[in-house]
Amino acid sequence: MTDLTRLSAAELANTLRSREASSVEVTRAHLDRIAAVDTTLHAFLRTSPEEALAAARRVDAARAQGEELPPLAGVPIAVKDNVVTRGLETTAASRILAGWIPPYDATVVSRLRAAGMPILGKTNLDEFAMGSSTEHSAYGPTRNPWDVGRIPGGSGGGSAAAVASFAAPLAIGSDTGGSIRQPAAVTGTVGVKPTYGGVSRYGLIALASSLDQIGPVARSVEDAAMLHEVLAGHDPHDSTSLPDPVAGFVSAARSGDVRGMRIGVVRELGGHGYQDGVRASFEQALEVLAGLGAELLEVSCPSFDYALAAYYLILPAEASSNLARFDGMRYGLRVEPDDGEVTAERVMAATRGAGFGAEVKRRIILGTHALSAGYYDAYYGSAQKVRTLIQRDFAAAFERADVLVSPTTPTTAFRFGEKLDDPLAMYLSDVATIPANLAGIPGMSLPSGVSGDGLPVGFQILAPARADTRLYEVGGVLERALKSAWGGSLLDVHLMGGASER
Ligand code: GLN
Repeated sequence: MTDLTRLSAAELANTLRSREASSVEVTRAHLDRIAAVDTTLHAFLRTSPEEALAAARRVDAARAQGEELPPLAGVPIAVKDNVVTRGLETTAASRILAGWIPPYDATVVSRLRAAGMPILGKTNLDEFAMGSSTEHSAYGPTRNPWDVGRIPGGSGGGSAAAVASFAAPLAIGSDTGGSIRQPAAVTGTVGVKPTYGGVSRYGLIALASSLDQIGPVARSVEDAAMLHEVLAGHDPHDSTSLPDPVAGFVSAARSGDVRGMRIGVVRELGGHGYQDGVRASFEQALEVLAGLGAELLEVSCPSFDYALAAYYLILPAEASSNLARFDGMRYGLRVEPDDGEVTAERVMAATRGAGFGAEVKRRIILGTHALSAGYYDAYYGSAQKVRTLIQRDFAAAFERADVLVSPTTPTTAFRFGEKLDDPLAMYLSDVATIPANLAGIPGMSLPSGVSGDGLPVGFQILAPARADTRLYEVGGVLERALKSAWGGSLLDVHLMGGASER
């Protein structure tokens, strides 16, 4: 019998439509898989088996009635724990939100429910999505299914590991500086950061509001496109939500063409500081694209050299403001001082002292300093100017190229502890992903192969704002070519030792 967890979301959708399996069977198979692998991996902070099976039963009943159902109806999904779910504890992997039960659903969660997608549980992340390894989770790290001694990326390491370990066919991530794409790169999965405003942020626990974007995590480009079509579309609850119609991602993923397409290789992303095996895999993918008729050219974006510095002023500034709401009065944890008077200020200090981890405190201090009266122009003001220069570099590059490409990350998955005591080394994990957030443009990471160390390498595609379909066109074409060369997907061939029997 087919192992249902080995099927892609698109295959599961067909299996459900033809009634070869029910959603209850599919959902149960994934819950069983979670039970088997997640004590080791810790991709999930909590599961919601009863709610998931109840949702699956509703879909099965509707299908039995002959109702017309949305394409992914009955296909289960995992949700990153910084996206609020009504009635299901949501902590953003912080102690300060322990036990907090949201009274409402994020817009993307409402859309998953309306699409008939059972929610398996909430995935682990670095606290408040600050990090590149999940080591900053207050509840312990997630392990990389490729090597359990290594990090699964971050902040969305839980979503990536859940999908890479076949514990969930799809997941929701959030990307402020790379937290969908970098975990995808180091786990051999596909992750997409949509255009800023393309997917509603209502109900996403804010990290840096001008950079945050929710997006899909999947095992194939087609699956990411299917989920993207469920998530996208205008939302009156989010003032930055775009009015664009949602269509074309799936068809672009299935039947794109790169003949005559101008693909710009970004000189500043990929040279010095990138692991040899990462560069080799990237270059092989470029050859594949050239062989399929794409026109390759080199583009230069000189301001990218300052992207990381600008990001680590803008992000902490916005984060320190967003995190001010965690005051011990409104949500989650409340700690009273052990001694002396109980005043509002002292409760706030005690709560925040006990509730936030070291990385969160570091960024609050940095952001508060950057926004302080005497330093505002020197730090925050300069960073905003750099942001404008980065946007101009992109605009100039997209005059010459239809899409831009680079390795997603400088290295493959690193070992636990390797960068934990060196914040700057950790921050460098996102050197190639951050420019897209600063400019609000869409980006995708898909696997291009394995490095000499046997670990997956991510290939990043960037497109102009509102041209997300181009990611799916190029990604779909590249993925098809690589899969036929490998004889299956990277995860099937290298992690699972062969394609599943169908
Ligand atoms: N690793 C980056 C950071 O720590 C990105 C975070 C994210 O995208 N949420 O800020």
